[in-house]
Amino acid sequence: MKNEILNLTLARTRDAVLNGEIKAHEVVDFYVERIKKHDGVIKSFLSVDEDAARKKAEEIDEKIMDGGKIGRLAGCVIAIKDNINILGSPTTCGSKILEGYVSPYDATVISRMRDEDAIFVGKTNLDEFAMGSSTENSAFFATKNPWDKDRVPGGSSGGSAAAVAAGFTSTALGSDTGGSIRQPAAFCGVVGVKPTYGLVSRYGLVAFASSLDQIGPFSRNVEDSAVILDVISGKDRMDSTTFAQDIEGLDPLAAVDIRNIKIGLPEEYFSGGVDDEILSAIENLMRMLESYGVKLKKISLPHTKYCVAAYYIVAPSEASSNLARFDGVKYGLMKDAENLLSMYIETREKGFGPEVKRRLMLGTYALSSGYYDAYYLAAQKVRTLISDDFSRAFKGVDFIISPATPTVAFRFGEKISAPLSMYLSDIFTISANLAGIPAMSMPIGFGKKTPMPIGMQIMAPHFSDGKMLSFAKFVEDLVKFAGKEPNL
Ligand code: GLN
Repeated sequence: MKNEILNLTLARTRDAVLNGEIKAHEVVDFYVERIKKHDGVIKSFLSVDEDAARKKAEEIDEKIMDGGKIGRLAGCVIAIKDNINILGSPTTCGSKILEGYVSPYDATVISRMRDEDAIFVGKTNLDEFAMGSSTENSAFFATKNPWDKDRVPGGSSGGSAAAVAAGFTSTALGSDTGGSIRQPAAFCGVVGVKPTYGLVSRYGLVAFASSLDQIGPFSRNVEDSAVILDVISGKDRMDSTTFAQDIEGLDPLAAVDIRNIKIGLPEEYFSGGVDDEILSAIENLMRMLESYGVKLKKISLPHTKYCVAAYYIVAPSEASSNLARFDGVKYGLMKDAENLLSMYIETREKGFGPEVKRRLMLGTYALSSGYYDAYYLAAQKVRTLISDDFSRAFKGVDFIISPATPTVAFRFGEKISAPLSMYLSDIFTISANLAGIPAMSMPIGFGKKTPMPIGMQIMAPHFSDGKMLSFAKFVEDLVKFAGKEPNL
């Protein structure tokens, strides 16, 4: 049983724990041992709380011995991106400015999972304040891709994606503002889901760009992401943008009638700049789906070319306002200084890294008087056009499929000195955040020339998260990627 842990679904793990095939503390032992053996090299965690994990496991084992009830996530050892607050644990956001900060409360996603007996084992590395695509912007260290340690795991939730790919945990949480769950999921060969905006509470997530941010799961199979999403989603009075969860069931086994599915393939996502191996992997899969009766349709999302530009106005603008709180008084390193202003300046000068500073300057500029209309307002209008593209497209198709990324995981150092080329690695993921629709990335194979995982993106209409996952489950059974492991 112990050797099978890595390949058990969450539901199966819970059953095994409940009927005594395995103890919750043995599941924790299994994962902690793997972290100790391999995370020195992979570096997916910023902090590991072995004691908390063991304590929770004992509590579950005792509950079972006493004949009590256990939650849906009993036996689920999970890693949390270090911009999501866990009571009593450090939250660094990958930044020096928050070094030493210990959270006095649980994010809503954490308390919901805690109620279902999830076992939190640690906080994962990220690009500083979730700004980046490789973890190279972390103030502490970069995380390695478990499939090739010379390559990045993607970002900003690279630590979470790498932890799941390396089998350090069953699942993880990340946050996605412009692709930070889907891009690292694609690079690391795992499933990653960005839910419909408002499906999951952002209370306790350190805000980057509030109108784009969503928390979502990583897992090695589609079913586990659906289970996590089901637990963390729903109305929360601490986040007024959440809605009561009356979307189509999140049960991924609720079979989709595959012959009635219509898929849109947007021409703008399949043109120049995408690796041939990614294109042919998707093409092969589409042919397979066609043989099951799926209808394929070429579509156009004409405003795609403005996505990156609109995002790099909207996201930095919101960030410049959200990150104003890190001033050495409310939050952040307090520096000795002669007066208040120089304390602010010192704190922010020493506390933030170069990419965060670049974004804050961009955002402050775009919002400033005289430029607001030209930049921020214009970007918001473009955002509406992008959203309308999707509404129009979804009148004729159930899902839209595209590559998750234009390339497989790139090498360390390849893009870090050219911010624009780094920004372009999110070219296919940004639109879903701007439109607020659900989107996910799932592995569909490996490159032959570059033997790295290839990720495919599925986008769906608002509130169709459950249907999207059911369809993904069908695809997963076809591509048979689940169960493949990197050689650590
Ligand atoms: N890589 C994108 C950025 O740097 C997206 C980040 C994210 O989704 N948090 O902004």
